[in-house]
Amino acid sequence: MALKDSYLPAHGNTGYRVAHYDLELDYKPVAARLSGRARLTVVALEALTAFTLDLGTFKVDRVLVEGKPVRYTHASGKLRVRAGRPIAVGTRFTVEVRYVGTPRPIRTRAWGDLGWDQLTDGAIVASQPIGAPSWFPCNDTVREKATYQISVTAPSPYTVLANGVLVDGKVGGSTTTWVYVQDVPMATYLATVQIGQYEELELADGQPAAVPSRLVAKFATDFGRQPAMMELFERLFGPYPFGQYSVVVTDDDLEVPIEAQGLSVFGANHVDGRRGFERLVAHELAHQWFGNSVGLADWRHIWLNEGFAAYSEWLWSEGSGGASAAVLAARARALLARQPQNLRIGDPGVDGMFDDRVYQRGALTLHSLRQVLGDAAFFSALREWTHTYRHRTATTDQFIAVAQRHTSLPLGPFFRSWLFEGKLPG
Ligand SMILES: [Zn+2]
Repeated sequence: MALKDSYLPAHGNTGYRVAHYDLELDYKPVAARLSGRARLTVVALEALTAFTLDLGTFKVDRVLVEGKPVRYTHASGKLRVRAGRPIAVGTRFTVEVRYVGTPRPIRTRAWGDLGWDQLTDGAIVASQPIGAPSWFPCNDTVREKATYQISVTAPSPYTVLANGVLVDGKVGGSTTTWVYVQDVPMATYLATVQIGQYEELELADGQPAAVPSRLVAKFATDFGRQPAMMELFERLFGPYPFGQYSVVVTDDDLEVPIEAQGLSVFGANHVDGRRGFERLVAHELAHQWFGNSVGLADWRHIWLNEGFAAYSEWLWSEGSGGASAAVLAARARALLARQPQNLRIGDPGVDGMFDDRVYQRGALTLHSLRQVLGDAAFFSALREWTHTYRHRTATTDQFIAVAQRHTSLPLGPFFRSWLFEGKLPG
């Protein structure tokens, strides 16, 4: 039986899994009004007479199970659906939800507003970790992945990006419908829609970008080395796990860049024409392997995302003629030594998930592992990791087991002190 997330147990439902989300959205940026029809293909993991979906503050017009209207209630972020008649374990069935309203971010104490958010002119979605219900009804858990079709109708001057491949774009005069298919399994928090008045560009390797016209020249400098970054990461980590990698730069500033599956989003403030934020370009690209393809089985394993993405920044620096990973590791160690040594990054607690020490000490853990294993064994362990858990989810114990296959030295004490003790190992 599926388990609830140990950090975020209020989200998700363990009674079923969603195999596919078919989302048909219509968005009016000026009125900030979203109307949606979500068709979910669901598999019952228990006998069900009722079940819940996570959904934010929309007006729900109708819910259908297997095409038949059913009764439901909607309160406190939970849409409770009466199945109509009992659903047996293993049954595959459809749930359709029609909803409308102004999408509002999910408010959190620890991480601020998450999910669908208005830009000055357009919209973004940044859901990590629990913002997905701000725009579609879902089983909001990091452990499960599903395929998606995301169709968005918006006024014609706007460009709409979503995860996966654009399979259709129909111009209906004043509006355009953009249809994207993501046929590689994806966690709900990595699903995204980006709407804005963008120029559509291509980098030297043919990967697409959507950028406000005022930033095009600076963007060309700042992201000019992304194709080389992609080459380096493919050599170190194995093949890029998705078909396409898109970059969006919003016309507004963003606090931090955002990773989504097959797509990353940067703020106007991350583009300076001097490659001043190239570190972040590497960080977000690396998440495609670590976090998006190899997902988390539970949020407590967050260092598997952030430690690896942070270490990838050092690998890019080293691989592109900048400071070596050893120099950057020494710097991070000095920084960490001055901070409280009371965070166990292998289980940092829900409030510590995005603590900078998870990133820095996570990267340092990997650099130390590289010193223990040697370059050849270390990178072959990373490639085994991305290959074995490609498009799946994984745990820290599973990473330790992969690393252990690449050395005869027992790694138990090494990982215990780096991940599960506060004190910085010597
Ligand atoms: Zn990150």
